Amino acid sequence: MQYIDLHVHTTASDGTCTPSEVMKIGERIGLKAIAITDHDTLKGLDEVGKTSKKSPIEVVSGIEISSEWEGTEIHLLAYLLDNISDDLRDTIKKLKLSRESRNEGIAYLLNRDGVRVSIEKLRSESRTRIIGRPYFARLLIDKGLAKEIPEAFQKYLTPGKPYFVKRVFPDVKSCLSALRNSGGVPVLAHPIKYNFSNEKLLDCISELKNNGLCGIECMYSGYSKEQVEYLTEIAKKFNLCRTGGSDFHGKNKPDIRLGYGYGELRVPYEYLASLKDAKQKYG
Ligand code: AMP
Ligand code: FE
Ligand code: FE
Ligand code: ZN
Repeated sequence: MQYIDLHVHTTASDGTCTPSEVMKIGERIGLKAIAITDHDTLKGLDEVGKTSKKSPIEVVSGIEISSEWEGTEIHLLAYLLDNISDDLRDTIKKLKLSRESRNEGIAYLLNRDGVRVSIEKLRSESRTRIIGRPYFARLLIDKGLAKEIPEAFQKYLTPGKPYFVKRVFPDVKSCLSALRNSGGVPVLAHPIKYNFSNEKLLDCISELKNNGLCGIECMYSGYSKEQVEYLTEIAKKFNLCRTGGSDFHGKNKPDIRLGYGYGELRVPYEYLASLKDAKQKYG
């Protein structure tokens, strides 16, 4: 069997490994293909493009976009983009602005409570191109307010907690259309993360499919055998592609290993082949 990883973050967003470092790890562990799916940016692909010619690994262009469906933040992955449309550029620009103003909001609250933080300083010190909540989590750890990143999120950075500031997300339908206009194959990321009931998840997937969704992420770090089977059934029911990936972030999610997740993950190459088929069919 040949294995792949279709969900990987690099320093182009909030991962701590550069795209070339990711490729080296992938080579060492024998992955056949890797999709770089940075949050709200395609910049990770530029660097990989420069180095991947020597690599035996197939690089798949990808992105992960945050969007909104019925008041919930949901993430879309998209693969095999080849012609970035104006509306996708515009969506990316809006996401960047909404993140920046959210970050200003978090910094304001931290400073008000005596935790000194300057976004400019964070940016100049940061290895990653996108300053996201993992950065604020590290800062809270440095100040002794939490021991580990998950604890910092749980205590301070999630809804209802003192340093959570809501971001504005574009509507999922406009994101699906922007991704499809760019030749991308859109997939619903980590469907279990949204805590939807079975009925609501089916409603969501049905509506997304009517608006261009091509697949759902059935394999993901930490998903049990039962959860993978549950999502596989849904994919079959809606005639959607199955995908899978680790959501590797390097040291920002230290227990997740590229290609293996928490240890149990193995995504077969055929999942990528089905994405290519889907692109052929609609393209
Ligand atoms: P942001 O996009 O700035 O709101 O930050 C979201 C990012 O924070 C996600 O992409 C993850 O990388 C990370 N993240 C979210 N929740 C957690 C958590 N509970 N533990 C660790 N990292 C998290
Ligand atoms: Fe992330
Ligand atoms: Fe995500
Ligand atoms: Zn991700």
